[in-house]
Amino acid sequence: MGYEQGKEGFDLKKEEAEQALKEPKELKIEDKLFTVKYNPSKDSHIKINHEVCKKCKTQKICLSICPAKVYTEEEGKEEIHIAFENCLECGTCRIACTDNAIDWQCPQGGMGVCYRCG
Ligand code: SF4
Ligand code: SF4
Repeated sequence: MGYEQGKEGFDLKKEEAEQALKEPKELKIEDKLFTVKYNPSKDSHIKINHEVCKKCKTQKICLSICPAKVYTEEEGKEEIHIAFENCLECGTCRIACTDNAIDWQCPQGGMGVCYRCG
């Protein structure tokens, strides 16, 4: 009896798994970022030299290269907005901005993204 119940449960999960394989659900970046844990700091660890950005030589690569979409442009605003709280601390933007407009410092000790090992 217990075995039958277990078997039923197993079959249901198997169906769901097969369905998921047939129609994989594409997660949006926002969904994935929702699973990331942060210890938010009050102060931004990222600063931009907006004057340098006016003569950007990389077609504003910061807007597309950041996996966490930290850099965005808001309609009607000239300056790039920095959502520093979402930073994954990968360091990509520091390399990609060859104009060196980005001043990126490690967040204060214990602040920022929380990575788990294992
Ligand atoms: S931060 Fe760097 S890549 Fe982004 S707009 Fe400014 S100069 Fe360009
Ligand atoms: S360090 Fe990585 S996650 Fe953080 S702002 Fe730069 S590119 Fe984005």
